[in-house]
Amino acid sequence: MLKGKHALVTGGGTGIGLAIAKILAENGATVTITGRRMEALEAAAGETAGLRPRIMDVTDESAVKTVIGAAVKEFGPIQILVANAGIAEGKKLHKTDTAFWRKIMATNLDGAFFTIREAMPSMLSTDWGRVIAISSIAGVRGLPGGGAYSASKHGVIGMIRSLAEDFMGQPYTFNSICPGYVETDIITRNIDSIKDRAGISAEDALKVMTEANRHKRLISTREIAEAALWLCSPHSGSVNGQEIKIAGGQVAG
Ligand code: NDP
Repeated sequence: MLKGKHALVTGGGTGIGLAIAKILAENGATVTITGRRMEALEAAAGETAGLRPRIMDVTDESAVKTVIGAAVKEFGPIQILVANAGIAEGKKLHKTDTAFWRKIMATNLDGAFFTIREAMPSMLSTDWGRVIAISSIAGVRGLPGGGAYSASKHGVIGMIRSLAEDFMGQPYTFNSICPGYVETDIITRNIDSIKDRAGISAEDALKVMTEANRHKRLISTREIAEAALWLCSPHSGSVNGQEIKIAGGQVAG
């Protein structure tokens, strides 16, 4: 289905990004995967044909320009862009210092902005394109103890909705995927942080996240990847400017 297409997945060496990169490659795309750790990217590329690793820190505007420019030169225009790289760290907003706020915004919001802006010109030189941002359920509602994260993910949705308006009626779509808690390293790291902050056991910390999903289980990365693949299918062209919520049930937005 995606033969001849060049995709870029930021944070494509692990977790949700890796699952999306794999499914796009399995469907014929050449997939540039980026992140800050070459070992993770190379391990991913070693396991799945079609993945092309490159170091790119999304907070570094000039690196984003250079790396995307080089990837386009080597593999052609980026027609599928998945802005996935992100960090999830929690602090109550009234206790959030500016450095922490900037760190979350620099990765989750500035990073998605730089990536989309730098990839768009190549996409616009073609007659088909898909931009998918991995936001979060915390992008459509507040997150207790995670104000900066929630604000960054709301911001991503605002960008995607605006892009959909900017290019309305043209052969490009812009959508956000908003997962609940997905089984990745973020969960492992969250267990430690919730455990320490709430003074509870690791088991109870995991339960906090499992119970937060409406169907009371963690979501698999494959479930998110299948949704991304559908957004790249020939029959999803009328889905534009949306937030696809994958959280086991209805979530008030
Ligand atoms: P991971 O930690 O496995 O993935 C995050 C990826 O982002 C890593 O590959 C990491 O690579 C990359 N990354 C982080 N910071 C940077 C940076 N400055 N520059 C470039 N790459 C960076 O966790 P997930 O797969 O769970 O997270 C993926 C996305 O999904 C995130 O945006 C997250 O907010 C979102 N999400 C996750 C949920 C979950 O429950 N897991 C729920 C809702 C949303 P490296 O460290 O090598 O740079």
